[in-house]
Amino acid sequence: MRSEIIQLGYLISTALFIFALYWMNHPNTARKAVFAGIAAMAIAVLATMLGSGITNWHWIVGAVALGFIVGVPLSWIPLTAVPQRTALSHAFGGLAAGLVGTAKFYLWLSEGPENLTPFRMTAIIVEIILGFLTFTGSLMAAGKLQEIKWIPQRPVTYRFQNVSNIGLLAIALICGLLIVIKPVEMTYLFPVIIVLSLVFGVLLIIPIGGADMPTVISLLNSYAGLSAVAMGFVLDNKLLVTAGALDGSSGLILSIIMCRAMNRSFTNVLFGAFGQVQAKAQAALQKSVKTETPEGAAQVMENASLVVIVPGYGMAVAQAQHRVRELYDQLTKKGVDVRFAIHPVAGRMPGHMNVLLAEADIPYDKLVEMDDINPEMPQADVVLVIGANDVVNPAARHDKTSPIYGMPIIDADKAKTCFAIKRSMKPGFAGIENELYYSDHTYMLFGDAKAVVGELVKYFSGGAGGH
Ligand code: NAP
Repeated sequence: MRSEIIQLGYLISTALFIFALYWMNHPNTARKAVFAGIAAMAIAVLATMLGSGITNWHWIVGAVALGFIVGVPLSWIPLTAVPQRTALSHAFGGLAAGLVGTAKFYLWLSEGPENLTPFRMTAIIVEIILGFLTFTGSLMAAGKLQEIKWIPQRPVTYRFQNVSNIGLLAIALICGLLIVIKPVEMTYLFPVIIVLSLVFGVLLIIPIGGADMPTVISLLNSYAGLSAVAMGFVLDNKLLVTAGALDGSSGLILSIIMCRAMNRSFTNVLFGAFGQVQAKAQAALQKSVKTETPEGAAQVMENASLVVIVPGYGMAVAQAQHRVRELYDQLTKKGVDVRFAIHPVAGRMPGHMNVLLAEADIPYDKLVEMDDINPEMPQADVVLVIGANDVVNPAARHDKTSPIYGMPIIDADKAKTCFAIKRSMKPGFAGIENELYYSDHTYMLFGDAKAVVGELVKYFSGGAGGH
C-alpha cells in the first residue's frame, strides 16, 4: 500500500511538472505554472521521504532550513539579475548531482565491489562529469553576467583552445571508461575525473563572451537536467529520471529558440568568441543623427493613429516599465492605438520584455510578437524604440558583414517616424552601430529611458506645456 502511494505521488508530481512547463507558455497561465511546479516539488520530496524510511530527520530538517536561508535572499534580486541567479541555481543543482554520485560510489565501494555494476558505474560517471562541469561552468557564467572584476567579460581565447578542451574531456571520459570496467582497481581515477570535470567547466565558459551567457545558461540547464537523469538511475528513482529529462530537454529547446532568434548556431555561441567579432566589426558610421525633445515627440505621438513601442534591454536597465504603462494610458485616452512589438531576444533573457510589461499591468493582447507586428509596421505613424538597439538594426537584413546578419528584427525603420530613446550613441549587445538611428525619419531622444518616458507622460498630463 505504501509503495502504491509513493508511486502515485511520483505520477502526480510528474504530471504537475509537465503542466508547469506547458502553462509557462503564456503570461496568462504562468502564475499557475509556478504553483504547479512548487506543488510537484513538494509532493516529490514527501513521497521520497515516505519511501526512504529515514530515521535521521535532523539532517533533512537542517538541509531544508539551509535551502531556505540561501534561497529566500536569492529571490530578492532585481529582475535584471535573473540570468545570473538562474546560473547560480544550476551551479547548486550540478554540485548536488556531483556530490550524490561521489557519495554513492564510495558508499557502494565500502559495502562491497559487487554493488558497482557496469550500469551503475556508467550512470555515476555521467552524473559526476555533467554535475561538476555544470557546477564550475555555471559559477563562471554567473560571474561573467555579474561582471565580477577578476572574471574577464570578453572571450578569452588561445591557440588550440578547442582541441585542448575536447582533449581534456576525452581524458575524463577515458578515465571514466576504465573505472567502469575495473571499479575497484581504478578507484584512484575517481578524484581525477572530478578535477578534470571541474576544470573543463571553467575552460568551456572562458572563450564565450559575457553577453552570450544567457544562451549558455540555458544549455547548462540542460546539462544539469541530464546529470539529474543519471542521478535518477544511480538512486533508482524514476521521478528524478523524468524530471531531469524535462529539465534537460526544456533547457535545450530554449537554447535552440534563442540561437534561432539571434540567427546564430550552437557552435557559433560556444566556440565563436562573439565578443571578439564585434570589436572588428565596429566600423563607425560617420553620419550625424537628428535629435528631438520629448515635447516635440509627444506632439507627433498624440496626432498618430498607431504607435508601436519597441522595448529593449535599456527599458529593463532603467526600470522604465511603469512609466511606459503611464504613457500607454495617456495615449490610449487620446484615442491612439498603442501596441508593443516583442522581439524574442529583446533584453537579456527569454521573455524579459513580457515579464517587465506584465509587471506594469500592460494588457497581454497589446503585446504583439515580431512576426505579427512586422507586416503592420509600414502603417505605424510612430515607432517608439525604448532602449532597444540590435533588435531594430536594419543591418541584420542586408549587411552580410554584420555579426547580426540574418537575425530577424522588428522593422522599426519601416514606420513613418521613429523616436529612439537611449543615453548615448554607444552600441548594444552585438557591439555594432545601428543604421536606424541615422535614417532620415529617425529622431533620437537622448537620456535615461525612465526619465525620457517620464517627460513624455508629463507632457500628456499637462505638466510640460502639454495638453
Ligand atoms: P541591446 O542591443 O543590448 O541595446 C540596448 C540599448 O539600451 C543600448 O544601446 C543602450 O544604449 C540602451 N540603454 C541601456 N541602458 C539604458 C537606459 N538606462 N536608458 C535608456 N537606454 C539604455 O538590446 P536589445 O535591442 O534588447 O537586444 C538584445 C540583444 O541581446 C540582442 O543582440 C540579443 O541577441 C542579445 N541576447 C538576448 C538574449 C535574450 O534571451 N533576450 C540572450 C542572449 C543575447 P546607451 O548605453 O546609449 O543608453
